[in-house]
Amino acid sequence: MISVEHLTKCYGDFMAVDDLSFEIEEGQVYGFLGPNGAGKSTTMNIMTGCLSATKGHVRIDGYDIFEQPGEAKKRIGYLPEQPPLYLNETPLEYLRFVGEAKGLRGAELERQVAEVVEQTKIQEVKHRSIAALSKGYRQRVGIAQALLGSPKVIILDEPTVGLDPLQIIEIRDLIKQLGQTHTVILSSHILSEVQTICEKILIIAKGKLIAFDTPDNLEKQLLSPSEIVLTAEATPEETEEILGVLEHIAEIQVEAQETGYVRARVKTDGTDIYALSRALFFAFAGREKALLEVNLKKANLEDIFIELTEKTEEPSAAPAEPVEIEWVESEDEAE
Ligand code: ADP
Ligand code: MG
Repeated sequence: MISVEHLTKCYGDFMAVDDLSFEIEEGQVYGFLGPNGAGKSTTMNIMTGCLSATKGHVRIDGYDIFEQPGEAKKRIGYLPEQPPLYLNETPLEYLRFVGEAKGLRGAELERQVAEVVEQTKIQEVKHRSIAALSKGYRQRVGIAQALLGSPKVIILDEPTVGLDPLQIIEIRDLIKQLGQTHTVILSSHILSEVQTICEKILIIAKGKLIAFDTPDNLEKQLLSPSEIVLTAEATPEETEEILGVLEHIAEIQVEAQETGYVRARVKTDGTDIYALSRALFFAFAGREKALLEVNLKKANLEDIFIELTEKTEEPSAAPAEPVEIEWVESEDEAE
């Protein structure tokens, strides 16, 4: 549906997008995930024909966005990071205006406006001034305008930024619904958001594509090395003895608990976690020590994201502006 090849964008000497290549298939929901400044908006602006590229190609349904912008743009609905809403208009006036700009007229214009009003559930506010609407409703109006012209692909840049928790849930539900009838690409710097909405995740950091997979596969990538946390009816010394003879352990931490039991964290060297779990079970049983609790700790997407983005850090680079701090704060804010 969309093919991006060697896309590069420089602002002076600064490379905001660095040789991005990927394919977007029809009918799925994709998430561009990356910290602020990663190049998500720049990429989306280029893909939607709003910004030129320094190098590379973007094809929408076979049409080159630079050479056949008319045909290419017809197939995309875009909600930019800062949607150009006209505050003194009503949603209805604004949508008619956008619809006309997209070439819709007469009965077809009215039909489509009514349809997107219904789809985005803005019936009750459609005659109010946009200035008087909550941020959540404004965002719906923004999504409604993207839907006009029946584009196959909907591109949404940080659609939940600045919304309160309830509005975030509503907008996420709306995006999931759109995903049933459209190819959707959204950007976000919030991990849990792309994890819950998207079928495929593209992790972008410093203008580079550093991972492209399903949320599940991204999690599996980090399944090893994993960790087992166990509680046993044994002394720390006995536990160390039992664990000491087992293979495939990279690291052990043993801690006496106030309850008289022992807690141990065991890191595997990357072996199948169940094989190690089984070995632990029999080792404790063989010494007639009871294993009271065994927890297999899988890495989550948060870990993967941190690992992948850290790998792209250049050691000589000045500590990246408040990128990491901002990431964590926004994540909290959204939960
Ligand atoms: P994101 O959307 O992932 O937060 P952007 O695509 O907005 O990232 O920005 C990527 C990088 O490009 C940032 O470092 C940003 O400062 C820089 N940048 C964006 N637009 C411009 C511009 N018009 N001129 C110079 N630098 C820019
Ligand atoms: Mg952005």
